[in-house]
Amino acid sequence: MKQIVFLDGQYVEKSKAKITVFDHGLLYGDGVFEGIRLYNGCIFKLHEHIERLFLSARYIMLNIPMTREDLIEATAETVRRNGLYESGYIRLVVTRGEGTLGLAPWLCPKPSVFIIATTIKLYPDEVYEKGLMLVTAATTRNRVETVNPRIKSLNYLNNILARIEAHNAGAEEALMLDHNGYVIECTADNIFIVRGKKIVTVPVYMGALKGITRDCIMDLARNRGLEVAEEPFTRFEIVAADECFLTGTAAEAVPVTRLDGRVIGSGEPGPVTKELIGAFREITSSDGVRIDGQKGSGRKGSKKR
Ligand code: PMP
Repeated sequence: MKQIVFLDGQYVEKSKAKITVFDHGLLYGDGVFEGIRLYNGCIFKLHEHIERLFLSARYIMLNIPMTREDLIEATAETVRRNGLYESGYIRLVVTRGEGTLGLAPWLCPKPSVFIIATTIKLYPDEVYEKGLMLVTAATTRNRVETVNPRIKSLNYLNNILARIEAHNAGAEEALMLDHNGYVIECTADNIFIVRGKKIVTVPVYMGALKGITRDCIMDLARNRGLEVAEEPFTRFEIVAADECFLTGTAAEAVPVTRLDGRVIGSGEPGPVTKELIGAFREITSSDGVRIDGQKGSGRKGSKKR
């Protein structure tokens, strides 16, 4: 089946899905995006992703040239045209559009919108069973007064540098700190630590993305009677924690068992992490916006993994 991409109102074959070299998304990273998952015929947390996209766009003063409803429909149609159902990954991008070689976004008359629907597997199954090793990156996370990490912008160089550092050190993800040494997040995931029956993540005002998986995991934890807190912490608290895990749309929820050569907790994924991974898998298979346009969520209880 040929891959079909939504590009500025048209559904085109992948080979024809091209944007101009004068697009400021490419020239300057001037644009916003979302990564969204499809499970079992339903797009997970689609409304939340669309809201975050509009909020990111509002902050960078970019007018998305489509309504929320049209974007939702175009997203579902892109998924359908690619024959995806059981599982998929959607990339929704809005760039500033074509302009001059100056920075001036006001000289870019028409933002560009494109939607890619494909499949994704970020980490091997083994990582979910044994846990991931993190290495702290020397590159710190953007400060909130610069490009605030709450904006999901096309400007990912900060994260890319940290990811290269982790890769060069043999790790699959990098831990990113702020300029004071507080833990912020990873290059594409939020971070949680577990202490007994309490889970703790970083407050977004410190400079982390308000992850949609993060918020979902916090809700699932509260519903299970766990205490949930947003508090600053350092690398010391990660090593001192009972458990640690990351959350993200592509990664889902993944255990972390090592940080910079130190063992976290028992060195194995812990019971709270495992319970939350299970709860997350359950909700992704039974919740979301149906791609067939019908109301209601996905088929409860159907197997997908
Ligand atoms: N932080 C960063 C820097 C990310 O790129 C992502 C992935 N979008 C996340 C956290 C996790 O956010 P979400 O759960 O919304 O995918």
